[in-house]
Amino acid sequence: MNMNRRHFFALSATAGAAATLPHTAFGAVQLPQPAREARLRLSCQEGVAPGGSLAEKLDFLEQHGFEGIEPGGGGLGKRVEEFQKALQGRKIKVSAICAGFEGVPISENEETRRKAVASIKEILTAAGALGSTGMIIVPAFNGQTKLGHWEARETLLKILPELGEHAVKNNTRVLLEPLNRGEAHFLRQVADGAAICRDVNHPGIAVMGDFWHMTWEEPCDMAAFIAAAKYLHHVHIASRKTRQMPGEDAGDNYEAGLKGLKLIGYQDFVSLECGSKGDRKTTIPAAAKLIREQWQKA
Ligand code: MG
Repeated sequence: MNMNRRHFFALSATAGAAATLPHTAFGAVQLPQPAREARLRLSCQEGVAPGGSLAEKLDFLEQHGFEGIEPGGGGLGKRVEEFQKALQGRKIKVSAICAGFEGVPISENEETRRKAVASIKEILTAAGALGSTGMIIVPAFNGQTKLGHWEARETLLKILPELGEHAVKNNTRVLLEPLNRGEAHFLRQVADGAAICRDVNHPGIAVMGDFWHMTWEEPCDMAAFIAAAKYLHHVHIASRKTRQMPGEDAGDNYEAGLKGLKLIGYQDFVSLECGSKGDRKTTIPAAAKLIREQWQKA
C-alpha cells in the first residue's frame, strides 16, 4: 500500500471493516484495493517519434525507456508484417492503434455507419495480430452526424456489441475516446465513455482518457480515471494549453490524473499524442522525465 492509499484509508475510522464493505458506518466511500500495483508504461505515437524509419523510431524510443509505440490505423492491415519484423527481439510493443477508419459509427446514414463497422473490424484484426491493447474510436466528430445525443447513444449501443465481439475474437478491444467540445459534442467525458461501456457490458468495449481533452472537460482528472476504472485501457498525454510536448507549457501538471491511475492499478500505456515546439530528440526525453517525476509524486 503506498502513501496515497494509506491516506485514503486513513480517512475512514473503520478501515479494517471497510475492506469488505462499499460504505463505512460514516458514509465514507472506500476505493477498492487494486488487484495489481499500477505501472507507468510510456508510449509514443509513431508520427510523434523522431526517425526516418520505423526501426529508427523504435531505437530512439527504446533508448529512452518507452515501452510502447502507437501506430495509426489507416492502412495498418498492410503493415502488420512490417511491424512484426521491426518489433522482433525488442522489448517495446505496440500500445494502442489510433483510429484511421472510414465512415462514422453514429452517422444518421446507415451506409456510413456500416462502412465504419466494416473498416473498424479490418483495423481491429490488424490490431489483434500486433498484440495491441485496443483500437481508438471517436463515434463522431462535430459535423459528422445529424443525430441528437439520445439517438446517437442508442445507435452506438447497437453497433458496439458487434465490434466488441470482433475485437475479443482478435484478442484486442475497442477504445472509445472522449474529446473536448471543440471537436465532438457527443462523448466528452471519460465517465460518460465508461457509462457506455457499462451499458454495452462487453469485454471488447473499453474507454480511454486523453489529458489534452480532459483539460477542458473534466472537473477532476483523478475522479475521471477512478470513474472509468476497469474500463480504462489507454491514456493520451500532451501539454495542457497548446497540445505540445508535456512540459512545453508552463505549469503542465498531470499529478491528479496519475494519482487516479495509481489508485485503479492501471496496467496499460500513457502515450504521447502531441506536437513539439522544440527538437523531439530532446523534448521527448524531457517529457518522459517530467511524467516519471510526477508519477512518483502522485
Ligand atoms: Mg487523443
